[in-house]
This record gives sequence, C-alpha cells and structure tokens, in this order.
Amino acid sequence: MEWAPIHKRPEDYSGANLVDYPAFAADFSWNDARAQLDGLPGGGLNIAHEAVDRHAAGEKADKIALRWIGRDGETRDFTYAQLARETARFANVLQAHGIGNGERVYSLLGREPELYIAALGTLKNGSVFSPLFSAFGPEPVKARMTIGEASALVTTASLYRRKIAPWRQELPGLKQVFIIDAPDTLPEGTVDLTTAMADASDSFETARTRPEDMALLHFTSGTTGRPKGAVHVHEAVVAHHITGRLALDLHPDDVFWCTADPGWVTGTSYGIISPLTNGATMIVDQAEFDAARWYRILQDQKVNVWYTAPTAIRMLMRIGSDIVKEHDLSALRFMASVGEPLNPEAVVWSEEAFGMPFHDNWWQTETGGIMIANYRAMDVRPGSMGKPLPGVTAAVVEKGEDGHMRPVAEPMTVGELALEPGWPSMMRAYLHEEERYNKSFADGWYLSGDLAMRDADGYFWFVGRADDVIKSAGHLIGPFEVESALMEHPAVAEVGVIGIPDEAAGEIVKAYVAIKKGHEPDEALRKELLGHARKKLGPAVAPREIAFRQNLPKTRSGKIMRRLLKARELGLPEGDTSTLESDEK
Ligand code: ATP
Ligand code: MG
Repeated sequence: MEWAPIHKRPEDYSGANLVDYPAFAADFSWNDARAQLDGLPGGGLNIAHEAVDRHAAGEKADKIALRWIGRDGETRDFTYAQLARETARFANVLQAHGIGNGERVYSLLGREPELYIAALGTLKNGSVFSPLFSAFGPEPVKARMTIGEASALVTTASLYRRKIAPWRQELPGLKQVFIIDAPDTLPEGTVDLTTAMADASDSFETARTRPEDMALLHFTSGTTGRPKGAVHVHEAVVAHHITGRLALDLHPDDVFWCTADPGWVTGTSYGIISPLTNGATMIVDQAEFDAARWYRILQDQKVNVWYTAPTAIRMLMRIGSDIVKEHDLSALRFMASVGEPLNPEAVVWSEEAFGMPFHDNWWQTETGGIMIANYRAMDVRPGSMGKPLPGVTAAVVEKGEDGHMRPVAEPMTVGELALEPGWPSMMRAYLHEEERYNKSFADGWYLSGDLAMRDADGYFWFVGRADDVIKSAGHLIGPFEVESALMEHPAVAEVGVIGIPDEAAGEIVKAYVAIKKGHEPDEALRKELLGHARKKLGPAVAPREIAFRQNLPKTRSGKIMRRLLKARELGLPEGDTSTLESDEK
C-alpha cells in the first residue's frame, strides 16, 4: 500500500534545530559540532565533563538534570550541581578501591539513580562504563563481564546473590562489587555503596582523558547471534550531543524522556549523555512499560521530547487513541522511535492520535549514535527511516563484478546499508574480536548488516537484516514489508515473518501473528489474513502460512528474534539466547 507522506506544517518547523536543513547540512562539519563542547580545562575530552560539570559550573547549576520517578510515584531530583557532586563521590569511591584509568566498571541495575551516578562517575574517573540488563541471567552476565575483564560492578544485593556470587571466584580480576541497597547483612566480599559515597569527598578532578580513550563498552542486542562488545571512546560525545539536537530536536530547556532500558546502547547515548550535554532535564521512570502510567508521565512531567521504541508504540496502538485524548499532552513537541523498523501503520496512527507522527530513526550499537533520521523539519514518509544526518554519508551498496562493494546505480534497489567511516561515535573495535570487526568493513565502507533501499529523494527504506531476508521463487522478500502489510489488519498486534525451506520455491514466507484482544485465532481469521496479505502484497510475496502466537520472542531491547522463530520452525539449535526475554514457544 502507498502511504501518503505526512507534510509538516509551518508550526512544526518553527524553532526547530534544523530550520534550514539543506544549507545547514551543506555547511556542517564534525569540527563545528565539537566546537559546541568545552573540552577539559587544560586539555583533553571527557564525556562526564561535557554532560555534567560544565553545566554545574555555569547557569544551569540549579537546574534539574535528572528527575527519577519511583515505581510508587515518588520522585527524586538531581540538579546539575548535585549530579556533579554525586558523580565526584562515586569517582572517589572507585579511586579508594584502586580502580583507575581504563578499568571496566559494569552496572547490573534497573533504572535506579545510582546507575546514572555510576555511569558518569566512572567516566569522570577515566574508567570504562559497561551497562548490563538487570534481567540477564547469571550466564550472560558472566560472559560479558569476562569479555570486558570487569574490575568493578555496581548492583543490588539480590542481583549479586543470584547472578554473580555463584561464579565470582572465576573472575579474579573483579576487585570490587558495590551494593546500592546494602541490607543489614552485606553479601561477603562486597562494599556498601551508600556508606562509601557518604564517606567520600564530593570534589574530584576529572581524569584528563583523550578523545580516543575508551569510554564505553556496549554489547549488541544479540538479535542475529552471539553479542559483540562494541568499544566507544570519549570523542563519541560529539555525536551524542549534536545528534540529539539534530535528530531529536533537543533544546536546552526541554524535558526529555527516553524510555530505553539502560542495559543497551540507547539507554546510554540518549538515556544519559545526549540530554545532559544539551542541558535538558531528563526523566527516568523506574517502572516497566504501562500505558496508563506512560501517558500520565508525559502529561504530568510536561515532556517535550519523547524517544521510544516500536514494541512500545505497538502496545500503545493496541490500547487505542481515546486514552491519548484524555491527557493534556500540550507540552509534547517531538516523538521519535528507534530499535526496529517502525511500521507505516504506526506512524499514521500516531499522527492521528497525537497530532504529530513518531519520527523513526536508524542506528546501531556499532554506530554509537543516530545516523539516519526523520528530523523535525522534514516531511515524513511513513515506513521510511529518513535521511542521513549531516556529517553522515550513507549508501546502499552491492558487490560489483570486480568483487568490490559499490553504491547501487538505481533508486529503490535493495542492497546493504553502508556508512562512510569517520563519525565520532563509530565503534573503535569489537573487544577481543579483531576478525569480526575487520569483516564489517570493505572498500571504504562500514557494512551495517542491514538491507535497505534509497529512493530518488534520498529517503532510506529498511528491508530487513541481511540474515532475515527471504528468497522465494526468484524474489527477494524483506520481512518488514510483509509484517507491515499484516499490521494494517485490525486484528493484528504484532508480526514476525521468516522464510522456511520449500522444494519448489526455495523458501516460502511464514508469518507468526499475535492478535489483539477481542479477536479469535481461528481458521476464519487465518484465511482472512492470508487473503488480506495476498491483496496487499501479491501472491509471490504474501505469506503462505500463518501461525498464531500469544507473543513473539524478543530481545531485551525489544527486537523480534526472527532467527529464533526460524530455528524453532526447523528444529535447529536456538543458538545464543542470552538476550531473550521470556516468550511462548
Ligand atoms: P546483533 O548485532 O547482536 O544481532 P542487534 O543488531 O539487534 O543485535 P543493536 O545494535 O541493538 O543490536 O540493534 C541495531 C539494529 O536494530 C540495526 O542494525 C537494525 O537491524 C535494527 N534497527 C534499529 N533501528 C532501526 C530502525 N529505525 N529501522 C529498522 N531497523 C532498525
Ligand atoms: Mg547488529
């Protein structure tokens, strides 16, 4: 189906950070972006200085940097000045326990205030921060802490007992474990962080890190296989800062809410660093997804900019738009989405429900920051990821006859989405996996592993992950297209599409469908969906089979794991499922 573009009105442009986008983009250089930051007094670059200390030393000292909302609705505010002092305390605690430059400090925490303090305090100390999902089991925790040679960990007593204590002696390099909720009996071999912080000085001279010093270690979501540890450096802050302005339209006085779990890269790049370098107030909600609660937060906290993910948006769609209208969301100015393809259906729905669309944007753990986006001053083509940001060169590439990668000649040709290396937040390595890292580059391009198309106007369209694309009777079928067509049916809540082997066609398309409440997963619905898909997509692309599911297997960052649907379908080993959220087989 052809989706009409969403044309922006003049008021959508007014005050946008990209009013005159083409001219701005033509003039843009990463050096200009760097010039918006301070650098350390006396030389060097440190993310924590840019995010916190420079604001704490200026006009923003008493402005709320972080507003934390507890599960029961209580709030805790930290001004920039307070955040500067708390992070200094944490850095002093690390020093006191012999944890220095370049050493890896992990967190295994939900959205607790200590997580934000630890992240920034770690960077202040010149150490490397690596966040883990608090819902990980002991094995994925152990694997990631081993790869990164963890020196320290910040966690809760209960998480420690269940997930680290059983194997701790196998990681002798782990010098200290800091417990944020030290109960009366502190687990053996751990430190009570609250007391240690209270005893520590609240001033600290930020480590004089250089732009190329390692700052962050982020593990990929593991959607396609074994997760990789992507290394990012302090220089990345240049991209975190400017992409927040350009792609999320973050202004210094905004209230910003990024709903991402702090266990993956979005939770750091845009859940901590970008809003703070831009001097905004960031909202952190301790609780998990709950539609009514989310609308209340958007209303009560007067959120201006909201950054979330397709899984959440699809859940909001299930509930409908009446609830949106019952809230005063007049402060909301910009909404964006990342993590998975955003179905055009969802974009059109949001435009109707909120009076503005969700703006999809694309990036990866490896890219460290947003690369392609529907920015504010731009018409949105529902289903498109948008256009490359200033400073980013993106292309759709294919292997030429000479065996080298080159941009495809014609618009709307499927190829691999590639980027020209050189932006500040580009990963510098997959830790201890040089070969895997080197494989991501060819002929001057960074190869993303995603397939996409570029239209004649420069908009990029996601097709699927290279591993997920289906070859059926000579057609190349992107699962996203099939999923989006099924999503248009009113009974459908969520879809995952895979190819299954077929003698005649090579592969045929099979769809796993979760349906909305009030519909029956029966033969009649199956026939109706098959008919619907055939009408929308044509018989060559439409699914041949449909299976109903309560829910689909997803990573903890909310991505549908198509490889798992396939492995189960074929009775093959499930591979690395360390990031799998509970699901129904
Ligand atoms: P792994 O690399 O371990 O398989 P992963 O690729 O899911 O896991 P992330 O780096 O968290 O790990 O996710 C980046 C990927 O998410 C992108 O390569 C892309 O496949 C998908 N993605 C992110 N944003 C979008 C988007 N806006 N549209 C389509 N796909 C997206
Ligand atoms: Mg990936």
